[in-house]
Amino acid sequence: MKRVFSGMQPTGNLHLGNYIGALKQFIPLQEEAECFFCVVDLHALTIPRDPEDLRKKTLELAGLYLAAGLDPDKSTLFVQSHNPAHSEGAWLLQCVARMGELGRMTQFKDKGKGSESATAGLFTYPVLQAADILLYDTDIVPIGEDQKQHLELSRDLAERFNRQYGKVFTVPEPKIGKTGARVMGLDNPNKKMSKSADSSFNRIELLDDPDTIVKKFKRAVTDSENEIRYDPQNKPGISNLLDIYSEMSGESVDSLVERYQGKGYGHLKLDTADAVIQVLKPLQDRYRDVMESGEVKRVLAQGAERAREVSGNTLQKVQEAMGLVPRG
Ligand code: ATP
Ligand code: MG
Repeated sequence: MKRVFSGMQPTGNLHLGNYIGALKQFIPLQEEAECFFCVVDLHALTIPRDPEDLRKKTLELAGLYLAAGLDPDKSTLFVQSHNPAHSEGAWLLQCVARMGELGRMTQFKDKGKGSESATAGLFTYPVLQAADILLYDTDIVPIGEDQKQHLELSRDLAERFNRQYGKVFTVPEPKIGKTGARVMGLDNPNKKMSKSADSSFNRIELLDDPDTIVKKFKRAVTDSENEIRYDPQNKPGISNLLDIYSEMSGESVDSLVERYQGKGYGHLKLDTADAVIQVLKPLQDRYRDVMESGEVKRVLAQGAERAREVSGNTLQKVQEAMGLVPRG
């Protein structure tokens, strides 16, 4: 059976990009692979956070995993910091990774903006991400397009390690959706939708109420023409709406374009909002039930145990291959 690993940062409220690009892809994988889904709280620390808020967001994200349809009887759901193997593995891999390749990571350049005060963690976190993935002998990593470069680094590190120390790691493959892999910001369709974007009009959050969703779509930046056409290069705003509508309704972009010929942008915006509400409403109802049930902590405790067991085996092989004396 293939192994799947993926994680999300508890850095804010999950948005449609996270849902379409990653979370929605997780659900069917549970039926065909052994899946590990992680709340990567250590990654969130790369930028200063309010401790109380981080704790709250971590549990909320786990609640959203469950509400979206991740099933703890089929998948392992856990919090990264509950398994020390990730931090230990990250150190060992940092001694394989090179400054030059980390310096080329576009997300470091984007988020760090070249500032002297960016944390060292922001620089090295793609290596922690490699440890997250490689410690589970992962075959497939379902992610959005923005993570492609980091996954490439994980593959490079696995291959380099295997060459240097003998074969320990499985080299993972990314699984990036053909559509919806890069949902763009509603306030700026030239940049991806993001948890950490300053304006809340950038994103539709999974827990937004219907009025807020409608308001945000109405404000979505489009263009000064009036033709509904799929052309991400020249009409990024309209193309983004079409992508979102298609992903939420299951109707193809071509069919939508045909159906909306001669109709105004306002019409498309409201119908896209409606398609989103149809999907999010039941998810929000389940989320409320999950959070009230107190189930989250129990699921995470059980998941961490399984995660420690599986990753511990690989970590031991890594330690031995690198020349560390076995414990006890
Ligand atoms: P942050 O801004 O804090 O980095 P984020 O919105 O990028 O947050 P992550 O937790 O870093 O979210 O990413 C979780 C998953 O969601 C990853 O697989 C990532 O590729 C995917 N993802 C993030 N943003 C988008 C997007 N706009 N479109 C599609 N997938 C996305
Ligand atoms: Mg991100």
